[in-house]
Amino acid sequence: MARQGILVVLSGPSGTGKGTICKELLQNYPNLHYSVSATTRSPRPGEINGVNYWFVSEADFKSMAANDELLEWAEVYGRFYGTPIKYVKEQLQSGLDVILEIDIQGAMQVKDKFPQGVFVFIVPPSINELETRIHKRGTETQDLIDLRLSCVYQELSFIYNYQYVVVNDEVPEAVRKIAAIVEAEKCLVARN
Ligand code: 5GP
Repeated sequence: MARQGILVVLSGPSGTGKGTICKELLQNYPNLHYSVSATTRSPRPGEINGVNYWFVSEADFKSMAANDELLEWAEVYGRFYGTPIKYVKEQLQSGLDVILEIDIQGAMQVKDKFPQGVFVFIVPPSINELETRIHKRGTETQDLIDLRLSCVYQELSFIYNYQYVVVNDEVPEAVRKIAAIVEAEKCLVARN
């Protein structure tokens, strides 16, 4: 029987640059397949439905969750986010590797259902740097920035639920490390 693909789960505190890392990773390693999440938040300028997210109404999201169409879901900063299960299952069963870029609550649900996944926690080099990055991104109001920062310490305490930690000091270096982790996982003789 063909070997199942690997499920890579990237998460970490908001503003650590996991989105940028994920994008770079996908550009450099086309064998990784990105799972597009569903969300009830509005698209930001430049975001495309079906590429960045599936932008859905709250009613549609709730019905997806109720019909077990989501591998995991969570409320993040007042909006719902979830991973459509169908795509992930199909890719893995076809032996293709899938990457999820999701929040910690979601990652913990995936860990329960799919412990053989590869769980990578991305951390910023420092809290000051994290705050600077969120400000630079310029997509959030000050209230939302404060809310995100107030969650950081609690989020950092989840680090021990992950197998790997990668400090995002320089994006190319972080990308290289995650690619190396995936390669190493693919070389394992047996997976748990
Ligand atoms: P943003 O709104 O900035 O794109 O994402 C906000 C947060 O939601 C980020 O921490 C991101 O990782 C998380 N997120 C994105 N998609 C999903 C998902 O499918 N499930 C969960 N649990 N979190 C997600």
